[in-house]
Amino acid sequence: MTLSSKLSDPRLFRQYAYVDGKWTHGDGNREEAVVDPATGETLGHIPWLESHQITAAVDAAEAAFVHWRALRADERCERLLAWYDLLQANREDLALIMTLEQGKPLPDARGEVEYGASFVRWFAEEGKRTFGETIPSHIPNAALGTLKEPVGIAALITPWNFPLAMITRKAAAAMAAGCTVIVKPAGETPYSALALAELAERAGIPAGVFNVVLGDPPEVSRILCAEERVKALSFTGSTRVGRLLLEQSANTVKRVSLELGGNAPFIVGPDMDPREAAFAAVAAKFQTAGQDCLAADRILVHESIHDDFVAHFAERMAALTVGNGLESEVDLGPLIHRQAVEKAAAIVDDAISKGATLMAGDQSQAPGENFFMPVLLTGVTANMKIWHEESFAPVAGITAYADDDQVIEMANDTEYGLAAYLYTHDIRRIWKVLRALEFGMVAVNSVKMTGPPVPFGGVKHSGLGREGGVTGIDEYLETKYYCLGALGSVSGS
Ligand code: NAD
Repeated sequence: MTLSSKLSDPRLFRQYAYVDGKWTHGDGNREEAVVDPATGETLGHIPWLESHQITAAVDAAEAAFVHWRALRADERCERLLAWYDLLQANREDLALIMTLEQGKPLPDARGEVEYGASFVRWFAEEGKRTFGETIPSHIPNAALGTLKEPVGIAALITPWNFPLAMITRKAAAAMAAGCTVIVKPAGETPYSALALAELAERAGIPAGVFNVVLGDPPEVSRILCAEERVKALSFTGSTRVGRLLLEQSANTVKRVSLELGGNAPFIVGPDMDPREAAFAAVAAKFQTAGQDCLAADRILVHESIHDDFVAHFAERMAALTVGNGLESEVDLGPLIHRQAVEKAAAIVDDAISKGATLMAGDQSQAPGENFFMPVLLTGVTANMKIWHEESFAPVAGITAYADDDQVIEMANDTEYGLAAYLYTHDIRRIWKVLRALEFGMVAVNSVKMTGPPVPFGGVKHSGLGREGGVTGIDEYLETKYYCLGALGSVSGS
């Protein structure tokens, strides 16, 4: 059965790039298979565009920019809200496409469609609030102020773990600001991006405003970074590739926003109920089978409740079901591909060889070659890979600590600085640790922290800039200062 025959609306399954409002074949006959990670079945193929076709996408985005930026903000808002409505109306098909290409359980995929759509609605409205300023003048007879203007074409390069939301969080902000966009999705998960393009077209978003290019990642990125006409680059993905793109964008002095890797500490204070904290830690660790930049990678538990915490964590973890995301009651789908499984196994082996204890995790129970059974390690220390690298897998590592100063030092002992979790009800501890953590986002007594109204992003090697919130749209706006001089006597100058 083909993917399209499983959808209520088969036209949401597109196997071509989308450039200038047209479904586009690759000129060079290069293509790539897209595989269901749960079954290994080929879902379809996508073309790899040639370099002149990537340049043609820039031409299209440049031509469309003239008209798109000239629309009133409320006109752009209407089109974006129509896109939002279509995302909601097609939620089931979008979720199914996502589960098939990414592997996450269907309820999680539905949640991501909801989450991704919520950014479209948020930024549709924010586009109407890109206010400039009036500046009290220090120059006689002059009026001073600022205008907010769209930066121009934005290139958006996105990962496979959130195939829809990582696109809408960028594209909706850029388009609301008046920019046109060229999206380069991950090769593993192109169909969610292409379904977004189909729905953008139906929503009346003009040709050339939202383009999706497909191709060899280093080649496409190199062209987009070197393109003078591309004024902003927004990337979500690994720190390794983020660094590369920052370097490649230097010659054209682009606006660069980077949402990179995380290595979140999950700190549990001595006053916590170990059961409550352990259940929260399981939720923060195993979402998307651990393939999440917000995953609780280093679980740091006060020594006084460590053993109880470990017991409750193991009990909760044992209740997780691993399987094909299309089946009901599945908590963890497959990892994205075989290399991810091998990396996870290597991280576990490294930890055990350096003294960690394997409390649970029997890989012989894995229901397929891309699946990785949840692993619990205790006695994790700073000389292990699991301490410094994102495992991007369902591998939980627990470490005991003695006091707040020690745990702050442990938590900050990483090049990453995306998100951190803190569980304690002691207000003095909350304030001390919250202030000392070198992370862009800190969730206290909550696993859920993201959504449209908040500034999402990291410090250190986790990135540059913020997505969402009232500042997310600024990544796509220039500030133009004006000085209107020789006005005669101006009141207030
Ligand atoms: P990745 O860096 O391998 O790929 C991301 C994108 O870059 C994809 O579109 C890919 O095709 C492209 N790419 C890959 N190699 C490239 C190269 N050499 N040159 C140019 N482009 C290249 O990341 P991934 O494996 O798809 O995603 C996982 C990473 O994303 C993790 O590190 C995770 O923490 C991070 N992430 C961060 C956030 C955040 O908001 N901070 C959100 C989701 C994922």
